[in-house]
Amino acid sequence: MTKYVYHFREGNAQMRNLLGGKGANLAEMTRLGMPIPQGFTVTTEACNDYYANGGAISPEIKEQIDQALAALESETGKKLGGIDNPLLVSVRSGARASMPGMMDTILNLGMNDQVVEVVARKTANPRFAWDSYRRFIQMYSDVVMELSKKHFEELIDAIKEKRGIKFDNELTTEDLQELAAQFKAEYKAKLGEDFPQDPYDQLMGAIKAVFRSWNNPRAIYYRHMNDIPGDWGTAVNVQMMVFGNMGDTSGTGVAFTRDPATGEKRMFGEYLINAQGEDVVAGIRTPKPITVLEQDMPQVYKQFIDIATTLENHYRDMQDMEFTIEEEKLYFLQTRNGKRTAAAALKVAVDLVDEGLRTEEEALLMVEPKQLDQLLHPRFDDKALKNAKPIGKGLPASPGSAAGKLYFSAEDAKNAHAAGRRVVLARLETSPEDIEGMAASEGILTVRGGRTSHAAVVARGMGTCCVAGCGEAKIDEDKKTLTLGGVTYREGDYISLDGSTGNIYAGDLPTVPAQITGDFGRFMGWADKARRLKVRTNADTPRDARTAVQFGAEGIGLTRTEHMFFDEERIPCMQQMIMSDNEDDRRAALKKLLPMQREDFIGIYEAMEERPVTIRLLDPPLHEFLPKNEEDFADLAKRMGLSMTQVKARAAELHEFNPMMGHRGCRLCVTYPEIAEMQAQAIIEAALYVKKTKGYDIKPEIMIPLVGEIKELNYVADVVRKVADRVIADSGVEMEYLIGTMIEIPRAALTADRIAETAQFFSFGTNDLTQMTFGFSRDDAGAFLGDYYAKNIYEFDPFARLDFDGVGQLVKLAAEKGRATRPDIHLGICGEHGGDPASVEFCHNVGLDYVSCSPYRVPIARLAAAQAAIKARG
Ligand code: PEP
Ligand code: MG
Repeated sequence: MTKYVYHFREGNAQMRNLLGGKGANLAEMTRLGMPIPQGFTVTTEACNDYYANGGAISPEIKEQIDQALAALESETGKKLGGIDNPLLVSVRSGARASMPGMMDTILNLGMNDQVVEVVARKTANPRFAWDSYRRFIQMYSDVVMELSKKHFEELIDAIKEKRGIKFDNELTTEDLQELAAQFKAEYKAKLGEDFPQDPYDQLMGAIKAVFRSWNNPRAIYYRHMNDIPGDWGTAVNVQMMVFGNMGDTSGTGVAFTRDPATGEKRMFGEYLINAQGEDVVAGIRTPKPITVLEQDMPQVYKQFIDIATTLENHYRDMQDMEFTIEEEKLYFLQTRNGKRTAAAALKVAVDLVDEGLRTEEEALLMVEPKQLDQLLHPRFDDKALKNAKPIGKGLPASPGSAAGKLYFSAEDAKNAHAAGRRVVLARLETSPEDIEGMAASEGILTVRGGRTSHAAVVARGMGTCCVAGCGEAKIDEDKKTLTLGGVTYREGDYISLDGSTGNIYAGDLPTVPAQITGDFGRFMGWADKARRLKVRTNADTPRDARTAVQFGAEGIGLTRTEHMFFDEERIPCMQQMIMSDNEDDRRAALKKLLPMQREDFIGIYEAMEERPVTIRLLDPPLHEFLPKNEEDFADLAKRMGLSMTQVKARAAELHEFNPMMGHRGCRLCVTYPEIAEMQAQAIIEAALYVKKTKGYDIKPEIMIPLVGEIKELNYVADVVRKVADRVIADSGVEMEYLIGTMIEIPRAALTADRIAETAQFFSFGTNDLTQMTFGFSRDDAGAFLGDYYAKNIYEFDPFARLDFDGVGQLVKLAAEKGRATRPDIHLGICGEHGGDPASVEFCHNVGLDYVSCSPYRVPIARLAAAQAAIKARG
């Protein structure tokens, strides 16, 4: 019989996959003898069973829940729905990977019209009892029955207005009683049935709702962003309630053992007196710093610090803890490895090594490679910052610099971002529904909420700059205005945020590039020691090449030569070549392009010094270089001395229904070998020039794209070799060069043993290989892949993360076949996947020699390569 339900006493930290992070840690803390309100965990397997069962809890699982509940009742001496000593529980989600705020939680479950009276009497605190009841009705309606929270909040606002008060905690017992009655009436009006009075029904409804929340849109979005598979499922934790809202000797809070924004070693946290957990994270009331607890309740504070320290030493990582104080008694409700910014992640990792708690390799595994991206992006220029006067200040909730146009809703932010604008999202407070708008923003500004509010936690997780809790700001979300320092800013106005200081500036402050120094440099040094894969970059200009070298690139894996032809000065020569109807005219146009192309390559070779450089021959279909609109056609006709009809006729000739599978790549060379001749000449002449002038020992790597057949490759390779050998012979200087190919057509992968007879290196073009293997275009797929994620058909964008089962198998096969023919063949990847950590791990495991990615992803790939090597060593 499968065990689907575990009491906290029965688990431990290693059982994360089954119990979820929260369940495993609650079990571990129970084992460590910490003050944990007891309860049980319904496993992630039960969640998968629920889905497999068409959204029903099987009788077997139900029976195990009943037994666990009975055990909890006898242990606590309380009974769910009991009149003598009622048990109230929380029902909370908890997946394998932490997904803060993305799934659902229900507190105070077990309350009904009778129980509330008993709780009021037993605690001699009717206000507390009614506050808990009205919260429960509200949460249950929202989470289990999907009734919008808005109506309930309107009822609260109405009663506050009637009574002339500002804060929830000023509501009296009578107010809360009235609210509970109004909430129940609202429930009945909207759903046509009474609010459920049987606590057992409430419990089963809540467990199902948490299972369902695994597949709510924001959870799916979060998983997608963080590479979390949809088949993991969530566990559900049912835990005895303790109450932070029992008066002024009670409270609730969230704390981190180190500062999650900077990594500094100091207790960092916030708490609220007389409140329940969601009040802190929802950011509705701005809480007090944890240090105030030391004055309010010194004994509790001391115990809290002792436990927090024990937890950090036990897990050897920064902990993020939730706690509740019920009438001066401290309880821990959860601990987990805290989400942190990239700067904090690096500092914590490096400090833990220095403190002797972690080895260098363990520390390397603690930082999410994608996070490094945050450190590579520009920050405000110091000079500009000095001269700028802040218009206001909030809490520095997530560091970084953000300048962009103001938007006031997640939807507007998302649309503005899609239209290519830089966006700053300003909200009264953010809620989990805002996640997509937050992801589309450069920065987030909130009026309410502390540094552990939802906005702050999510922003830090995403590496987005956030200034939270700026109480002096007035935001009118309907009118779309922000008023600060007496000035009103409107939608579309520029604003700049400094997430490290909390300062807010008017206008669009200039930025400067980042540098790899300090902790970052030291950490990357460890990564370089640990990895086997080399990391190259995709760069088309000397500037990109230099940036990449600064970020640690060890060569160029792909220079796309076509990007150089789009330059304003050059496109006319390119167009002249395309419009020519005979070889002589084409050669005349190419002659003009030759010196320009040679200059490009000289710049790149100089920037890369002796590092290897792979240059690819022209790839796109020729029509891409022709005009798109009438005006430009007229202009072209004039320049070429041709009629509009002639120009349009040539464009029509070049038109293709599916240019991605059309006349491009090496196929162009089969038709127009003179293009490849010119490019080969430019590559070799540039290399010879740099060798002569700088003394660098250069061995050019010439790459032929879109090959699917060995004879096709042989034809182009012969064209290239003839020119290259002649140019080298004429120069009187010795130079070796390599000819290789991209493997980006499935047929090339399947016949890689033949292809390797000629190709001295393979570079996997996984962008094309993905589109050709899936049979959907990389330009069009975005329009419908969203439906595939929403329906759990695909979990990931196959253009971002390599599809291991399909495309990956072609890579593996081609690598094996290539090596069988030519044991020393050099193997790399230059598709977008070369900078994606999971794909980098795959490349390590199939034995490629290097990955190549855009300059800003080079450090990410270096760390991912190190992690892959460490994991493979076990
Ligand atoms: C590829 O197809 O993966 C590749 C790198 O080439 P491009 O993106 O230029 O087609
Ligand atoms: Mg390609």
